[in-house]
Amino acid sequence: KLHNTILELKGNIRVFCRVRPLLLDEGMEDETKPISFPTTTEALGRGIEVLHHGQTHPFMFDKVFMPQTTQEEVFEEVSQLVQSALDGYKVCIFAYGQTGSGKTHTMMGTPGSYDDKGLIPRSLEQIFEARQKLKEQGWKYEMQVSMLEIYNETIRDLLSANKCSTEGSANKQQYAIKHDANGTTYVSDLTIVDVRSSKEVSYLLNRAAQSRSVGKTQMNEQSSRSHFVFTLRIFGVNETLEQQVQGVLNLIDLAGSERLSKSGSTGDRLKETQAINRSLSSLSDVIFALAKKEEHIPYRNSKLTYLLQPCLGGDSKTLMVVNVSPAPSSVNESLCSLRFAARVN
Ligand code: ADP
Ligand code: MG
Repeated sequence: KLHNTILELKGNIRVFCRVRPLLLDEGMEDETKPISFPTTTEALGRGIEVLHHGQTHPFMFDKVFMPQTTQEEVFEEVSQLVQSALDGYKVCIFAYGQTGSGKTHTMMGTPGSYDDKGLIPRSLEQIFEARQKLKEQGWKYEMQVSMLEIYNETIRDLLSANKCSTEGSANKQQYAIKHDANGTTYVSDLTIVDVRSSKEVSYLLNRAAQSRSVGKTQMNEQSSRSHFVFTLRIFGVNETLEQQVQGVLNLIDLAGSERLSKSGSTGDRLKETQAINRSLSSLSDVIFALAKKEEHIPYRNSKLTYLLQPCLGGDSKTLMVVNVSPAPSSVNESLCSLRFAARVN
């Protein structure tokens, strides 16, 4: 019996699973490896099994990437989806998983390294290259970037020139989310930057990374406790063909999915964990409701789902990459992540 409800329903929703390699200080040679990959014809490249308390839990996804899979190989499976943003589709790609499972590696990769570049830099290079080719067919594109983080249900602008952010101030109207009739999202006061090259975007990504670490002061690893949302808006016009398109590419590095008990939370940390749990389960609720083609989609239950509402559902395209650690010490969390993604819990 296969544990994946989403897979049976899906539509425009895909779920990939990526297992990162064991890190040097993880696991012993003689320890049982909790994660394996079935090799039957049907499950090859799509199946994953988790051994937990002597029981094997099988899962199937649209694709399963084994630990040795390179960044380039992962991108190959995603590049068509990215390309569709240039055709006017609204696309969301999420990285889900516990802290340390490889979300940031999947999305960003190692900054500065050529081979280790993740989905975000590769997507941008592809889009700007394609733009150049489409120019020959009379297409003119304009692109805009924004980057924000959602922490404790509060939006923080990562490209704001104002370094002393008004975070925690009484100004409730700041960063209010609004959708217009065309399905365009506006976040009040959010910095939006016109971009003409992937280099320009790299520069902005660096700036955003710095801005994220500024917020780290009181919490050691705030970045793992917040959702990072990268948005590229694409406006294309072809005067000869009298056509125009508006696409959106959202690339999201989600907050760590580890559960309450493990982080031993109290006080602020507890509030934080609850906010993460709530938004991750809202995301799952929305995706599941969409897959089931339910009439009511509960977008409003979290900032994240409300922000992305026009890009989730309709003819938009969604990909969830579930990142999993192969470490024996993470088997509980890995099982939880896979269950979340397969929506059987
Ligand atoms: P997360 O963002 O989910 O907390 P990271 O992306 O920071 O996790 O990954 C945790 C560690 O594992 C980092 O040291 C990262 O370099 C390493 N890592 C993750 N995925 C891979 C991979 N596919 N190949 C090699 N190292 C990886
Ligand atoms: Mg991370």
